Amino acid sequence: MQANSEHHEHDIIIIGAGVVGAMVARFLSRYDLDILWIEKESDVCTGATSANSAIIHGGYAATPGTLKAEMNAKASPMWDQLAADLNFDFSRCGTYVVAIGDEEREALEIEAAHGAANGIRVEIISGDEMQRREPLVNPDTMGALYCPVGGICDPWDVTIAAAENAVMNGVTLKRLTCFEDFIWSPADPKRITGIKTNWGNFYGRWVINAAGIYSDSVMHKAGVRPEFKIKARRGEYYILDQNRFTMNSVLFPVPTKVSKGIVVTTTLHGNTIVGPNAEELEDKEDTAVTAAGLDEVWNGARKLVPSINKRDVIAIFAGLRPGGNAPSAKPGVAYHRDFIIEIPREVSGLVNLGGIESPGLTAAPAIAERVVELLQAAGETLQEKPDWDPIRPARPVLRQLSHEEQAALVKQDPRYGRVICRCENVTEGEIIAEIHAPIPADTYDAIKRRTWLGTGRCQGSFDMPRVVDILARELALDPLEVTKKGPGSGFLARETKIAGPG
Ligand SMILES: Cc1cc2nc3c(=O)[nH]c(=O)nc-3n(C[C@H](O)[C@H](O)[C@H](O)COP(=O)(O)OP(=O)(O)OC[C@H]3O[C@@H](n4cnc5c(N)ncnc54)[C@H](O)[C@@H]3O)c2cc1C
Repeated sequence: MQANSEHHEHDIIIIGAGVVGAMVARFLSRYDLDILWIEKESDVCTGATSANSAIIHGGYAATPGTLKAEMNAKASPMWDQLAADLNFDFSRCGTYVVAIGDEEREALEIEAAHGAANGIRVEIISGDEMQRREPLVNPDTMGALYCPVGGICDPWDVTIAAAENAVMNGVTLKRLTCFEDFIWSPADPKRITGIKTNWGNFYGRWVINAAGIYSDSVMHKAGVRPEFKIKARRGEYYILDQNRFTMNSVLFPVPTKVSKGIVVTTTLHGNTIVGPNAEELEDKEDTAVTAAGLDEVWNGARKLVPSINKRDVIAIFAGLRPGGNAPSAKPGVAYHRDFIIEIPREVSGLVNLGGIESPGLTAAPAIAERVVELLQAAGETLQEKPDWDPIRPARPVLRQLSHEEQAALVKQDPRYGRVICRCENVTEGEIIAEIHAPIPADTYDAIKRRTWLGTGRCQGSFDMPRVVDILARELALDPLEVTKKGPGSGFLARETKIAGPG
């Protein structure tokens, strides 16, 4: 990539390609705007959006009166249409807060009151009824708060679908492009006119900060909210094999002061995930799992579902919540525990999104809609494009087809008949389609996020060499150049066998 040297002025520059950036890009792509969207990593969906509980919260839990509550309540009903337009899977499987023992029952009433204040329908059911709906739940369950509109999604699928729809509608996405600083107008030192990046300067009338855990550093570069500091709050998880352990819904414990507690939840792929704990860290990159953290997660999960068994574990991972408050910072400062969604007054040209922790995945479409409203309120006349297409077409997924459909697809393209990932049944045809998609999947992890390959019991040990081969062939790369997730993450160090006679 060559450093940018053009003085082209975009209407909007978006920083960050998590679910928030992706929804903002997709919602703004509806309008006649020149939009540049940058992401520092090699792909979309690598931050908090890539490692979370995947729950689309009904909206009862957020503190009434907060932006979190408002955005969650507004976003929850948007998910059905989004899933239909963008062709991603989404299930309103229902969520439960489970009270174990009499002493936890009171918490259900508090949660139900939150639900009423937030306008979300919830219902308290008996322990017996909970047991009937989810037979593996702790037999000491005394009751549960049921939220029928709560559901689950695959955050990778959602973000990639929204991003792809944005790009199909004209948004320019530049990956491996890191925001470094703002450019200010020489005539008005409070007006942002662009950004400096590792690939040079880019100019725009508006910059939207959707940088997740780094959104505090971005706003500080603009001199906005210097007291607002994000600390990473790490959450660790186990993933259980889909064939050995089955849940039907999402089980929360009664909540703690800092989080919604350790959840046992089904996923759209049939696996069960358990987690997260909540540990505050200084390091915003520390996604290591720890023995102590995993013990905490396991004990929490066993309280809800005593029969879970470590033999069913196939993977462990950790995600970092962008917690918008720091107990160790200046004493006396009132920290922000809510989302920040604003056009700050002290500068012009910035839309500032910060502290988008849970329920940020759920709330992302409503946050995007609020960004559109903020821009309109700031005087932008947003003209709808006559050719805007809200539909992101689905690509064939062999394992989701009937035998007849599979046979027809393989006849049309035999590469759909070559299984590359045996655990998850992902074919060469699917991988190649993703390599040549509107946002090309050009690393192993990018293909994993798009096809679900490598996520099963063998965790990629069978498919990985074959995927390296396919990536090298399709992108005309030397296999040594193929990476797991961008520069510095190559799989192969050197050739060990010389091809040729003998
Ligand atoms: C453990 C855990 C569990 C959660 N569970 C749920 C849940 O079940 N339901 C729910 O609704 N929410 C949940 N959340 C919250 C949800 O995941 C987040 O609110 C949401 O993903 C935030 O999205 P984002 O786009 O703001 O951030 P991110 O996904 O982190 O995206 C920000 C992007 O900005 C990029 N970036 C940063 N700095 C720069 C820069 N200088 N230049 C260019 N790009 C930059 C990053 O690389 C990143 O890709 C959970 C979060 C965690 C961590």
